[in-house]
Amino acid sequence: STPDPADLLSKLNEQQRRAASHVQGPLLIIAGAGSGKTRVLTYRIAHLLQKQHALPHNILALTFTNKAAREMQSRIQDLIGERASGLWMGTFHSIFSKILRFEAERIGYSSSFSIYDSADSENAIKLILKELNYDPREIRPRTIQYKISDAKNQLVGPDTYQNRFVQSTLDDITARVYQLYTRRLKEANAMDFDDLLIRPIELFEEHPDVLEKYQDKFRYILIDEYQDTNHAQYKVTRLLADKYENICVVGDDAQSIYSFRGADISNILNFKEDYQKATEVPLEQNYRSTKHILQCADSVIKQNRKQLEKTLWTENIDGEPITLLENFDERDEANRIVNYINDLKLRHGYQNNDFAILYRTNYQSRIFEEALRRKNIAYQLVGGLSFYQRKEIKDVLAYLTLLVNPEDEQALLRIINEPSRGIGNKSLNDLLKKARSTGSSVWKILKNVETADLYKPAEARVKEFVQMIENLRELLESGTPILDVTKKVLEKSGYLKALVEENSAQSLTRRDNVLELQNAIAYYQQNTGNAKLSNFLQEITLITDTDKYDENKPAVTLMTVHASKGLEFPVVFIVGLEENLFPMGPREGEEPNTEEERRLFYVAITRAQKHLFFSYSKMRFKYGEEQRQARSRFLNEVDPGVVRTETGATIRQNRTDSSSFSVERDDSSDSAKRTDTEIDYDWKSPVNSKKPRSSGNSDYEYEYDDDPFRTGAHVLHPSFG
Ligand code: ATP
Ligand code: MG
Repeated sequence: STPDPADLLSKLNEQQRRAASHVQGPLLIIAGAGSGKTRVLTYRIAHLLQKQHALPHNILALTFTNKAAREMQSRIQDLIGERASGLWMGTFHSIFSKILRFEAERIGYSSSFSIYDSADSENAIKLILKELNYDPREIRPRTIQYKISDAKNQLVGPDTYQNRFVQSTLDDITARVYQLYTRRLKEANAMDFDDLLIRPIELFEEHPDVLEKYQDKFRYILIDEYQDTNHAQYKVTRLLADKYENICVVGDDAQSIYSFRGADISNILNFKEDYQKATEVPLEQNYRSTKHILQCADSVIKQNRKQLEKTLWTENIDGEPITLLENFDERDEANRIVNYINDLKLRHGYQNNDFAILYRTNYQSRIFEEALRRKNIAYQLVGGLSFYQRKEIKDVLAYLTLLVNPEDEQALLRIINEPSRGIGNKSLNDLLKKARSTGSSVWKILKNVETADLYKPAEARVKEFVQMIENLRELLESGTPILDVTKKVLEKSGYLKALVEENSAQSLTRRDNVLELQNAIAYYQQNTGNAKLSNFLQEITLITDTDKYDENKPAVTLMTVHASKGLEFPVVFIVGLEENLFPMGPREGEEPNTEEERRLFYVAITRAQKHLFFSYSKMRFKYGEEQRQARSRFLNEVDPGVVRTETGATIRQNRTDSSSFSVERDDSSDSAKRTDTEIDYDWKSPVNSKKPRSSGNSDYEYEYDDDPFRTGAHVLHPSFG
């Protein structure tokens, strides 16, 4: 039953109420962790709807994860009942991909455009590098990919890049690849993740009528975690809010942790300049944490020079001191923490899902997984290799994608000879050359394969392949339920049969995964009115890491600090507090970003509600060798009054200068942006370390994905597992 409407804002404090009941004009809320920023956004939407200031479809709420959007939606529903349906809520990527589907024609795309995930983009870039006669082992595609992505997020197009940003040979190569990459994407009717943010800007700037339509539609815009928006996100919301200026942003400059992906803290800091009429409401009461935890968080963030002063107090109890666990090595660390989990369950009646183990990099999860498994404690790993990134899943999804958008070159190249149907490397190269020289898509060449001068047997196989895809496309277009289409794809392509015939442990695991995908599609079809294949494909491409976290699953949560943003847990363990791990050292050729590492530590601390543990190891395996580890400088910065060792002693602190940061990189990674997550372990089956089954086309071989940033759009992303 719907609660009494008069009561709606009674569950808020005075400041929160002021913010939630604000109706017209820009509103800025910069406030500390756990002060109810997200809660205020939720209540403000409920209030706007209840007082009928807005209809649901007039409200656009942008969240950092899909999960946060779903949660907000269901809370609003609880608060005011049915009226909540029709709200536009989601991540920037999911909302703007929806808008782009409606308006694609205006910018030269068709509404069936594909979304290239990071792996697809990287493969496309690899192909271009080869075309330009560079060796992808020397010029790493991923390096170029990051440079292009940076440029795109700064709204620097390929021409501008070429003319103004070229300072080195690498820049020059990037400029040439960027040109071709942009063209290829367009030809493939595909957008990458960055396009989902920048194409709307192009759309709005070139088509004022379209902009005005959406300005009138989205009378009220609300953005959570605004401190982590990048330039493109800033720009697109600025455009949308320009007419009515009903834009409400909430955030905490102390929790800005995505600068390595282009997040720009000045977006929130300059809000009052951008919107001169802005009302600012502070939120100062924390409802999440004990006094000790808050005091600790405060002592840490105060060390940052570039930090806004904020008041944060709580009526919560003092709570226990924070416990520092000093371990011999990482195994000792994991075992000790598992013992603490068991102990806290006994002493305080906690359940598994009350615990979170937070680490700086994904690879740290493995030891904890082993320790938890040994003690039979259920856990959920958030992040890491997603189900949807597995080779076999990507293969099947590529078939499905082709049915929606046959121009999708990456999907096409992925499966044209998978399973092997005798269309080899040589034929593929000929087809690609033909496509490039005539400026048409590979699919168009395939449809007129006679003109491509292929080796005759290959030509016949291409014709069979094209016929198969055409037949399946007809099946889909005739309105056949997507589950049936999927089954037909698996049958007609021979994909499932090939896995069964291979009959290895690995191929059978893959078959099971493919069948699991079929289950996912069945579920989607059951739970979605008029389930469309293109929507299903879009949703899974845009899954983020944190989306995988299920707070109701009776399991201990393992995740990176980055993925934990916005969440809260009764008991938190922050592990691996060692120099060069947390804080992590800078990448080669880069300046240390100690302030951002410290903000990350602040985010970690403020996830805790009742009990907080810090932990480090004196020794740790690196490069296959035990190495001595130095304790994190952050432990010298925390207020020693609220931290105790396991024996109850005050912690030792050596007050050295912690502003300098002379460390070597502690890992051998040479990729540009992979700071928070380096290696992904596959907890379901040990397949991802092995090479995938190959169709024999080494040039077009698709490998397992080990890059955390190539999952869904930002912050990575519900998976099975
Ligand atoms: P973060 O900075 O971590 O995103 P936040 O400022 O968004 O935190 P919320 O997650 O909205 O904070 O709130 C923190 C916790 O405090 C939540 O459990 C929320 O339900 C609770 N809370 C917030 N305001 C109140 C209130 N007025 N009464 C009771 N509980 C509240
Ligand atoms: Mg929040």
